[in-house]
Amino acid sequence: RKTAVSTCKSCCRVKVWDACSDALITFDKENLQDEMAYVVENDVIVAALTKQLQTLSEQVEVHYRTRVVKYTWPRPYQVSDSIPWVKVTLASGQTLHTKLLIGADGPNSMVRKEAGIPTVKWNYDQSAVVAVLHLSEPTENNVAWQRFLPKGPIAMLPLSDTESSLVWSTSHQHAEELLQMDEESFVDAINSAFWSNENQSDLIEAAGSLFRTALSVLMPNGTSTRQLPPSVAGIGPKSRVMFPLGMGHASEYIRHRVALIGDAAHRVHPLAGQGANLGFGDVACLTQVLSQAAFNGKDLGAMQHLLEYETERQRHNLPMMAAIDLMKRLYSTNAAPMVLLRTLGLQATNALPPLKEQIIAYASK
Ligand SMILES: Cc1cc2nc3c(=O)[nH]c(=O)nc-3n(C[C@H](O)[C@H](O)[C@H](O)COP(=O)(O)OP(=O)(O)OC[C@H]3O[C@@H](n4cnc5c(N)ncnc54)[C@H](O)[C@@H]3O)c2cc1C
Repeated sequence: RKTAVSTCKSCCRVKVWDACSDALITFDKENLQDEMAYVVENDVIVAALTKQLQTLSEQVEVHYRTRVVKYTWPRPYQVSDSIPWVKVTLASGQTLHTKLLIGADGPNSMVRKEAGIPTVKWNYDQSAVVAVLHLSEPTENNVAWQRFLPKGPIAMLPLSDTESSLVWSTSHQHAEELLQMDEESFVDAINSAFWSNENQSDLIEAAGSLFRTALSVLMPNGTSTRQLPPSVAGIGPKSRVMFPLGMGHASEYIRHRVALIGDAAHRVHPLAGQGANLGFGDVACLTQVLSQAAFNGKDLGAMQHLLEYETERQRHNLPMMAAIDLMKRLYSTNAAPMVLLRTLGLQATNALPPLKEQIIAYASK
């Protein structure tokens, strides 16, 4: 979804901190030569997929410049008017038939709606502004930075030694304002969002500092030294775009001859950078389940093995979605008790490397 710069950059460390206190958490691999994650621009992923599709031209037929306008479902129990497969009608008038329809059509999925799959969903009180940022000077730039501000998190993800990608979730009104600002004011707003201490309170600061000192005595290797993110000097041309944010989950990922993947099945807040990753997990799982079914000569659209896909992915996606939604809520307030709770929680988590390793492992699945 992010705006185009043809870059892919490895990321060795993630630093997350709270604007209302000094609480900080750092995720990194023990050996900093190892990558923890990659930041890949959408255009790079699309180009790579297009290239792969070209090599598979004998097996895969792509219909560009058209869209699906209608699905007709098989009705196995009404023999007189039944069709055995799903019928897909394109805007061009062409029709296709498939044993298994995979709905990868995003959060407003027509496949999901037409299949009558119930969905739990709500809109957040936030929109995300994305942009490509030019840094003030070249740096190694291998750290992803995220700061939780009272209106929402701001994140800067490395793209190259001189550029980063911005994802700034904030109130709808503030997002509109950020979009309308001239470039200089926008850059000032970003730098101030990462650097300013205006939201901190002395009381929380004192409590956090006391807790940090106690942790550093108990677990000398468990605390992180404070670093500041690189400063921003400008933005890429026409790179500012805004997206309303929401959460959604389909209560079923499958029906007879239908499987939902990606945002069609689940939509999350971008604060954990997990949306597309959850979709890639769906793809890997469904591929494995379908390969096994094909190997065994089974009907690809049969419920029996699709259920395996649904069970495995819901088991992974639901806890992740709940954790992301909880984080969103926990950080959407600057009420002192909540700030204190999350300050102590973040610092305690930061001091427990085995717990952080488990979080990294779960997020990479
Ligand atoms: C601001 C922001 C930042 C994000 N950052 C990250 C991140 O850092 N890491 C991460 O993992 N995720 C991130 N995400 C989430 C990620 O963008 C989504 O999870 C991902 O794009 C979902 O992919 P998808 O293919 O399932 O759906 P979509 O990207 O919505 O694609 C659906 C496709 O289906 C097509 N389509 C829909 N209806 C039809 C039809 N009737 N006929 C034909 N085609 C149709 C659409 O045109 C579209 O191309 C972010 C999201 C936002 C909003």
